[in-house]
Amino acid sequence: MKADAYELLGVSRGADDREIKKAFRGVARDLHPDTNPDDPGAEDKFKAAAEAYEVLSDSERRAIYDRYGWDGLDSRGFASQSHGFGSFGDIFEAFFGGDPFGGGGAGPGRVQGGDVGVEVEITLEQAARGESVDVAYDAVAPCERCHGNRAEPGTPIETCERCGGAGQLRAVTRTAFGQMVRAQACDMCGGEGKVAATPCTECRGRGVRAVQRELTVDVPAGIADQQRIRVTGRGHSGERGGPAGDLYVLVRVAEDERFLRDGSDLVSVVDVPAPAAALGTTVVVPTLDGEEKIEVAPGTQPGTIVTLKGKGMPTISRGRSGDQQVVLNVVIPRELSTRQRELLSELQDSLGDKNLREASNESLFSKVRRALR
Ligand SMILES: [Zn+2]
Ligand SMILES: [Zn+2]
Repeated sequence: MKADAYELLGVSRGADDREIKKAFRGVARDLHPDTNPDDPGAEDKFKAAAEAYEVLSDSERRAIYDRYGWDGLDSRGFASQSHGFGSFGDIFEAFFGGDPFGGGGAGPGRVQGGDVGVEVEITLEQAARGESVDVAYDAVAPCERCHGNRAEPGTPIETCERCGGAGQLRAVTRTAFGQMVRAQACDMCGGEGKVAATPCTECRGRGVRAVQRELTVDVPAGIADQQRIRVTGRGHSGERGGPAGDLYVLVRVAEDERFLRDGSDLVSVVDVPAPAAALGTTVVVPTLDGEEKIEVAPGTQPGTIVTLKGKGMPTISRGRSGDQQVVLNVVIPRELSTRQRELLSELQDSLGDKNLREASNESLFSKVRRALR
């Protein structure tokens, strides 16, 4: 059951055309998407109100509606027109010409500036401690010669002849229930309502030009490769009072041959000769804070991992660091001399079960599984 047309607009059955128009304008403003970002039903309500307005603003249709209701209109071929429009803006324009919230400095035809992308590469160390990087890029900016008003300095800016300064052209469409007026931006002045008699020589009357911009961008500590930083309002300038676009800085973190990054952890590998692993030794490993010595216990097995707490990458959100995992890569000697072979043979003959038993109770398969993780 469709709601009553008078109720939809909140007017009495005796309301005159002016009251009806005023009521619809009020309802339309209340239901505008800009005022109702959280109400997905606003557009449907607007369409219902627009349909009511179509009927009540046309004396012939209103008379039919008063006698027979919505069904009476449908059966006489007066199906609503408002479904034929695409967006809310289309409907609004069709009735009133122009966006009701478009005023206040930003004129018709305002265009938001485009976004700009720029890429920077930093080292892993820079990513770990955070870094200010300078970026340079080309962006569209208001022309300095004409200050964006498009006219050669000292020459007049005249009212657009085509639209008479309104910035809009009205296209009248005949429909079953009268004339519908739709407005569109004037193609001669681009919606500005004014044209430069002599276009600015610097920007050829565009009001904008490409400039090189430089900016220092703070890259937060712990940033990952390929992350983007958005700098609001630093993209291309808007046109005709529109806001500027954004700058997106794509951060590339260069590979570091000493470390693999695993989330906030760093993984590094250090070689330990097999005899040293058997005897116990000290090895030096690189960390992001410089070199660090680690103890290798006697009888250390291949693939043993030593964790250096807090030596990984900081995490952007949580403000603490990951760890560095050092994999001890036990290297078996090769290309042995005769003497070395003799010594190893002698060593092998001397080894008993006690020497070769696994230190931990971990099964061989679970070790393999861990290594393949
Ligand atoms: Zn200019
Ligand atoms: Zn114009």
